[in-house]
Amino acid sequence: MSERSRDLFSQARQVIPGGVNSPVRAFKSVGRDPVFVASAGGCQIFDVDGKSYIDYVGSWGPMILGHAHPEVIAAIKDAADRGTSFGAPTENEVLLAQKIVQGVPSVEMVRLVNSGTEAVMSAIRVARAYTGKDKILKMAGCYHGHDNSMLVKAGSGAITLGIPDSPGVPAALAQLTLTVPYNDLAAVEQVLRKEAGQIACLIVEPVAGNMGVIPPAPGYLQGLRDLTSQYGVLLIFDEVITGFRLAFGGAQSVYGVIPDMTCLGKIIGGGLPVGAYGGKRQIMEIVAPSGPVYQAGTLSGNPLAVAAGLKTLELLEDDAVYAHIDQITGQLCRGLQDQLQEFRIPCQLNRVGSLFTLFFTQKKVTDYDSAKSADTERFSRYFRVMLEEGIYLPPSQFEALFVSIAHTEREVEKTLEASERALHSLSQ
Ligand code: PMP
Repeated sequence: MSERSRDLFSQARQVIPGGVNSPVRAFKSVGRDPVFVASAGGCQIFDVDGKSYIDYVGSWGPMILGHAHPEVIAAIKDAADRGTSFGAPTENEVLLAQKIVQGVPSVEMVRLVNSGTEAVMSAIRVARAYTGKDKILKMAGCYHGHDNSMLVKAGSGAITLGIPDSPGVPAALAQLTLTVPYNDLAAVEQVLRKEAGQIACLIVEPVAGNMGVIPPAPGYLQGLRDLTSQYGVLLIFDEVITGFRLAFGGAQSVYGVIPDMTCLGKIIGGGLPVGAYGGKRQIMEIVAPSGPVYQAGTLSGNPLAVAAGLKTLELLEDDAVYAHIDQITGQLCRGLQDQLQEFRIPCQLNRVGSLFTLFFTQKKVTDYDSAKSADTERFSRYFRVMLEEGIYLPPSQFEALFVSIAHTEREVEKTLEASERALHSLSQ
């Protein structure tokens, strides 16, 4: 590892828990110290020692247009020149909300917040108020931010660090969060039959991305829609990753299943802090000040963040964008599949659009338990060689790789060359 990164990390550990401001950034599970980033452009990031990497993290999803996209940066600069926060409404907030409503089928009204965590936390409060019920149902291994109610069998960094059920969450609250395995409709039906009278909502990542990528089984999302409608439970899609990534309308437009509420984040802020929750007008109208459910934010709808998000969504309105990332990701994944066969390494490549994960396991990965069967030591060795080769992967077996429109055939080739060396080292 480079000198300056090592030095900064040792300083960081003195003043920031674990040296990072979000656990997923630590390289704890892959036996390395994190790389400190100096700058980024397109699909590349540059560390503080000047080494460049092809980036497959993309800030964990927002950077679908690549880093420092000139039009997005120009929009942010232009907004900054006019003031960074007013605590009063602006025109761009209306334009961004209109774009989200136009794009995402389930969203008739939307409220902007500052993160995915806040979006989910607020949506759950609204669902509880709307239904008058307290319990919620989530899927083991899905991650919905770090609100207390969601840190039960949570994915992402919580799986990576082996703390799916965080201390500090009051037992009385955790008891209200029920969990079932992902992709298991029978388990959902069983819980709903027993507890439906007490359940406000079912929340799910329509494509799971936080235990590694796991596609919904055919009919799964429609099954969730049918069951929740039948039992009077609100269906919430957490599209913080999939929104505006799998298609402009998110996973719900790809799979043709319309939830009651949707949570968004990441891409809608173009790399600045934004989240949003929305849904049917009838539900959203209970939010203050039009209704009694309180939810607020000093910096919500921040002018810089909204300018970045609005420009990003404008650029994504072109279908060619999705066609391009789909084609590039397909090319990369086909190359990786060929290599895995050639080296006879037991591995599952799960992919949906521009999201994918290589799970080092023989088992088909369809839920949390099968994801956990992956050989994390093997993943760590693969990760370390890739990093040496200048390929920056998510530092965990249980995360998605994110491809952007800035990735081209050239990066695919370079990535495959590096992967060949990494897989070769695993087969030694
Ligand atoms: N939901 C999902 C599906 C996510 O992937 C994440 C973050 N990775 C969140 C919610 C929380 O978003 P944030 O980190 O912006 O709070």
